[in-house]
Amino acid sequence: MVNVEDFNKYIENNVKNTVEKYKLLDKNEKIAVALSGGKDSILTLHMLNKFKDDYDLDLIAITIDEGISGYRNDGVEVARKNAEDLGVKLVEKSFGDELEFKLDDIHDFYKSACIPCGVFRRYLLNRTAYEVGAIKIATGHNLDDEIQSFLMTFARADFKRFRKFGPKLDTIHKKLIPRIKPLWNLPEKDVGMWAVLNNIDVHFAECPYSHTSARAKMKEFLNQMESEQKGTKSNILKSFQKTLQFEKKTAKLYECEKCGEPSSLNICKACEMIEEIKNSIL
Ligand code: SF4
Repeated sequence: MVNVEDFNKYIENNVKNTVEKYKLLDKNEKIAVALSGGKDSILTLHMLNKFKDDYDLDLIAITIDEGISGYRNDGVEVARKNAEDLGVKLVEKSFGDELEFKLDDIHDFYKSACIPCGVFRRYLLNRTAYEVGAIKIATGHNLDDEIQSFLMTFARADFKRFRKFGPKLDTIHKKLIPRIKPLWNLPEKDVGMWAVLNNIDVHFAECPYSHTSARAKMKEFLNQMESEQKGTKSNILKSFQKTLQFEKKTAKLYECEKCGEPSSLNICKACEMIEEIKNSIL
C-alpha cells in the first residue's frame, strides 16, 4: 500500500531537484503553463503553484483547443476547473478562432493528425505566451515523452532537433519564448499515480488520433523493452544527456515574412501549412 504523503513528497522532491539543478526558475518571472487538462500539464501547474511564493512567480495558464470532437472539450473543462481551484488565470485559444479550421477538418491532409496538431499548437502557444508577456513556457513533458522524442529524432537522423531537448531551452529569439520542463526526470506512470492517489481531476482519455502517431509506436516499444529489461529508459536518458553536451548548437532564427513569428526560414512552418490547407480546401 502506497503512503500518499510519502509519494507526494517524492513527486515534489523530484520536480524541485529538476527545477534547482537546471535553474528552470528565477525570481519574479511570469510563467505560462501549457495546460491541456492531461495529467502531465495538471501536475506541472500544481507544482509551479507550490513553488510560486518561493520564486515570486506570476503564473498564467494557456489552453489550446485544437478542435477534436468528443475529446478536447473534456480536457478544456478539466483545465478550467484546476486553474480556477488554484486561482490561476486561464487564457483559452482555439484553432477554430485563430486559424479558421479545426483539426477535425484537416487531419487527413497529413500522414498523421499529430503533424499539423503539433505545429499549430506550438505556434499558438508561443504567440499567446508572447502576447501575455510570459518569460517562459512550462510544459508537462515527462521522462517518457522526452525519451520517445529523443529516439524518434535519432531514428530520423534529425540532429538539428537535438537542441530542442533538455529541461530548459535557451532564448534564441526575443519572440520565441523558451520552454522549461519541470517533469523532465519524472516517469509517466508516477504522474498518473499522483493524480489517482490525490483524486485530482485530470483528463485521462486518449486522443482519437493518437494511433496515427509514430510516438504511440515508440511508446509501446519502450514500455515493452522496459518490462523485459528494467532500466532501459533510464539508460537511454543517460545516453541522451551525454549526446546533449555535444549537440547543443544555437540555430539562427528570423521573423516569418507573413505573420512575424520566429522561424528558421523566411516563411514559418505554420504559415506554410496554412497556405497548403487553404489551397486544398478551395
Ligand atoms: Fe494532437 Fe496527436 Fe496529441 Fe491528438 S495525439 S492531441 S492529434 S498531437
